[in-house]
Amino acid sequence: MAERRGSFGDQPQHLLYESKAGGYTALRKALFDMKPVDLTNEVKTSGLRGRGGAGFATGVKWSFINRDAPGPKYVVVNADESEPGTAKDRYILENSPHMVVEGILIAAYAVGANQAWVYIRGEYDEPSRMLTEAIDEARAKGYIGPQPMGKDYPLDIRLYRGHGAYICGEETALLESLEGKRAQPRSRPPFPAVKGAWGRPTLLNNVETLATVPWIINNGGAAYAKLGTDKSPGTRLLTVSGNVRKPGVYEVEIGQTFRHVIMELAGGPPEGRKVKVFWPGGSSAPVLPESMLDVTTDAEALAAARSMAGSGGVIVMDDTHCVVRAAHRLLKFYAYESCGKCTPCRVGGDWAVRTYERILANQGSQVELDTLQRVSDGLQNGRCLCGLGDSAGWVIDSTLRHFREEYEDHALRHECNVGAVPANA
Ligand code: SF4
Repeated sequence: MAERRGSFGDQPQHLLYESKAGGYTALRKALFDMKPVDLTNEVKTSGLRGRGGAGFATGVKWSFINRDAPGPKYVVVNADESEPGTAKDRYILENSPHMVVEGILIAAYAVGANQAWVYIRGEYDEPSRMLTEAIDEARAKGYIGPQPMGKDYPLDIRLYRGHGAYICGEETALLESLEGKRAQPRSRPPFPAVKGAWGRPTLLNNVETLATVPWIINNGGAAYAKLGTDKSPGTRLLTVSGNVRKPGVYEVEIGQTFRHVIMELAGGPPEGRKVKVFWPGGSSAPVLPESMLDVTTDAEALAAARSMAGSGGVIVMDDTHCVVRAAHRLLKFYAYESCGKCTPCRVGGDWAVRTYERILANQGSQVELDTLQRVSDGLQNGRCLCGLGDSAGWVIDSTLRHFREEYEDHALRHECNVGAVPANA
């Protein structure tokens, strides 16, 4: 037994999950009262969208797997939560791992898989331990095994620890890594639903997405669809970090404004400071300025604001920080994490970093501003093999769009509007 047991105290997790949260009633219902196709339809009715970043309709994704195709099929859970500013899957795994286990088993049964893999971020020691215990407990209770709950349908879940590369959060790079290869994204098509892990049909879902499934099966997709907005139903977990008084993970009904999330739930910035900019969906989402705090958390409103809901990581920066320096720091991150497989990302990231360095060393001019925009354009809109390139481009593009004056202060007037900058900034 692990020394730390999250919110479960000394009791086995499954006892509390079963007695207080109706745990595994959804699995029983799925295995004995519903057909696999009904499970997929229920999730379709709920309107649940993936919570990992892309926001694809979950039930539709399930329906892409040909359940009747001969040979093995897999469920692969993306628990490689590496997006800066995002820790909600970690929270779920540490506090309610059985909810994830139950969701995985239901998904596997729905798509005709007998084997599920959880690819978990290598640095996530505690979540790995909690999930391992939950899987062991579920196996001991007979929920995982050759005949789960007595049903003649073998189900198994295994964990795979990642090795620390950000790119492994991209689903096809994750599959390469799971297969023991270098983690680089694959060209698509074929998509994982047709040719995924070990060349077999594979359903890839995020931790939060699967943790939502038991509630949907217990209460019905229509009940879930009543929450949130018409096109983005339900609730989601937002990780709020940065310059707020109460950073943390908050569950909100989709459609709330970022003003509510940042100023009310997270307590707003420290006294005497103002929100300057926020990332609404992890560092990969284009930034929004303070004037857009009333944008709502649904995917449609964020798309209209030229950003995205992404991983639900809300990063807040107040008016004591320099946007140009923040963008430089993020570009260094993306350039470092680039897998190098496609030229625009491999070359463009470093090119942008060097341009930022000239600007921040007071060696900038209009040439550097134009270069940044050109590099940004070259990284976006399908010019790269995966979303990492887009993300790097969006950092440049969105900060230039909303904070042009701050860039011009640095590049043209060689000054910073937030005053002296610490040497290690
Ligand atoms: Fe690799 Fe970057 Fe290309 Fe993605 S965009 S495949 S991370 S080089």
